[in-house]
Amino acid sequence: MNHDSEMIDKSKDDSVKQDNIALYQETKTRDIRILGIETSCDETAAAVVVDGARVLSNVVASQIDLHRVYGGVVPEIASREHVKAILPVIDRALHQAEMTLADLDGIAVTFGPGLIGALLVGVAAAKGFTAVTGLPLIPIHHIEGHVASAYLANPALRPPFLALIVSGGHASIIEVRDWAMPFREIARTRDDAPGEAFDKIARVLGLSYPGGPAIEKAAQGGRDDALHFPEASFEDSFDFSFSGVKTAAINAYRRIERQAEREGRAWPRDLTLQDFAASFQKAIVNTLVSHTERALDATGYKTLVIGGGVSANRCLRDNIEEMAKERVIALTIPPLTYCTDNAAMIASAGYFAWRAGRRAGSDLDATAMANLEDINDFLTNINL
Ligand code: ADP
Ligand code: MG
Repeated sequence: MNHDSEMIDKSKDDSVKQDNIALYQETKTRDIRILGIETSCDETAAAVVVDGARVLSNVVASQIDLHRVYGGVVPEIASREHVKAILPVIDRALHQAEMTLADLDGIAVTFGPGLIGALLVGVAAAKGFTAVTGLPLIPIHHIEGHVASAYLANPALRPPFLALIVSGGHASIIEVRDWAMPFREIARTRDDAPGEAFDKIARVLGLSYPGGPAIEKAAQGGRDDALHFPEASFEDSFDFSFSGVKTAAINAYRRIERQAEREGRAWPRDLTLQDFAASFQKAIVNTLVSHTERALDATGYKTLVIGGGVSANRCLRDNIEEMAKERVIALTIPPLTYCTDNAAMIASAGYFAWRAGRRAGSDLDATAMANLEDINDFLTNINL
């Protein structure tokens, strides 16, 4: 590199830096309003959040009733329902926040991971609105959104911390070192997610969809030590695996069914549906808590947050709380509405990404298998 180009480059850097400082200072003196859009699975959601923590509206149109008859999410139906719901849901979110598009500072959208046909609807809507308004388009990874749900519950929360995110598609332990930096996933599931295991076993037991809340309800009053299910862990990592407990539960239920038939009853004399549900729930919760405990010990973090649909589970919440108390860990558990899929969490994550200068162009793609590291690929124009 010769001296001339070095000088030109440097002066460019300086002017960008000046712009960035101005933008950064501006963010401190006025409210930043982000519209969040989430369509990764079977919830069409839009929300307006101020400064990443103050929720002005949080609209969720759930398709659960439509998918219930099939015992799970049907991707084709999900896409079609998103198309129908997306504009009314965005309209309602703006209306409830008493705003128009002109009052916003940016639009944040889940670009992945999730069902491709479902993601496409949200991404297309966000691209359309940013194209006509000139607002920044802020791409958000769905898991990043679940992490941000903790800021909605606890605006005083500051990174660094550890996050346990558990849902129908994920079981991850994530190191959150900064607000909007790419996070480091230190554990993931090697096969099924815990929500998936709850959904599957609920179906086997003849309970309704979604399975997590159904099993939680069935477990009430049951003996959680009535049956022993395997709790998988690995010596060299904090990774999860739930396919073993799922298969063990299916096999156990088949044996129990045969025994009940011999006794001429719905359940054998010495076991109830409540016992089965409580034992199964306990096995999943034990695994989640013990892996998180090991990860906390190994990394030394003193702050923990949990999120994702499965974190709505009372037994998990209680057991995590107890573990955190024993270890003097500061714990944030979002209220139930922010645990399952919603757009307030996407708008919150969007605010921090906006401040970090993360932007996408009109070429933003919905990405079914998005990794947290994919956030790196987006343009950042602030470097403070
Ligand atoms: P996604 O998996 O698409 O990210 P969510 O974050 O909304 O969606 O999580 C949905 C999953 O959470 C489903 O598998 C559901 O069974 C599970 N779930 C919801 N509530 C509970 C609960 N109380 N106990 C256990 N699992 C739950
Ligand atoms: Mg989710």
